[in-house]
Amino acid sequence: MTCLFCNIISGDVPADIVYQDDRIIAFRDISPKAPNHVLIIPRKHIPTLNDAQAGDAELLGHILLTAATLAGQLGCKEQGYRVVMNCNAAAGQTVFHIHLHLLCGRTMHWPPG
Ligand code: AMP
Ligand code: ZN
Repeated sequence: MTCLFCNIISGDVPADIVYQDDRIIAFRDISPKAPNHVLIIPRKHIPTLNDAQAGDAELLGHILLTAATLAGQLGCKEQGYRVVMNCNAAAGQTVFHIHLHLLCGRTMHWPPG
C-alpha cells in the first residue's frame, strides 16, 4: 500500500515541515486554501476518522491542541482560524491518512461548500 502522507513521514516525499514530534508531524499544504494552510497528521497510519479507535483519543487530542499552538505561532490565534478533518469522499477527503487542516490568515465563510 502506498500512502502519500506515510511517504512524507518517512522523508521519501519532501514537505515544508513546520512541526514534528514523536507522534505527529505538521507541514504546509501544497495547494493552500488560505494564507496559512497547515496539515497536522499522526505518524500512525489511520485512513479515516472512522478507523480511529478509543486508544487513539489522546493522539487525536494532541493533534487538536497542536493546531491551537501552531495558530498562535502563525499569528492567527486572536484573529481566528479554522480546523477541518474531512472524512471520506463526500466530505472531500482525497488523502486517506487522517489529517487536520489548519487554515488562517483570511476571513472564513460558513457554511463550508
Ligand atoms: P483532503 O482533501 O482533506 O484529503 O486533504 C488533502 C490535502 O493534501 C489537500 O489540501 C492537498 O492540497 C494536500 N496535499 C496533497 N499532496 C500534498 C503534498 N505532497 N504535500 C502537501 N500537501 C499535499
Ligand atoms: Zn499513511
